[in-house]
Amino acid sequence: MPRKRATERQVIAVLLSQGAVIPCYRCKIALTAGEAVEREHVVPLALDGTDEPENWRYSHKECHARQTNGSRATSYGSDKHAIAKGKRLARGPRQRKGKAIPGRGFDRKLRKRMDGTVEIRK
Ligand SMILES: [Zn+2]
Repeated sequence: MPRKRATERQVIAVLLSQGAVIPCYRCKIALTAGEAVEREHVVPLALDGTDEPENWRYSHKECHARQTNGSRATSYGSDKHAIAKGKRLARGPRQRKGKAIPGRGFDRKLRKRMDGTVEIRK
């Protein structure tokens, strides 16, 4: 009979049952059996991180989610923030759509002094 192939989850469960201590990559608290664990990418795939073992780490599902989405009202400091910034920078400076904002039409031949008097430019 062929031997079973073990899933990642099964390997982690066996290691933990043998007493292995696997700290969460984010909070450093040891993972325990039955906890929601996720494999995360140190450098996010969206930021050109590789999908290779060197870029994989295990962490609690909650810790991973916090890193991905941020924990405050904004996503500042999270992967989501970094990815959005990368996209913004790749897009380049904003281009205005539609017609230009019209000027006030002040005659270029005239010049207004700081004291409010208007004189003709020479
Ligand atoms: Zn954690």
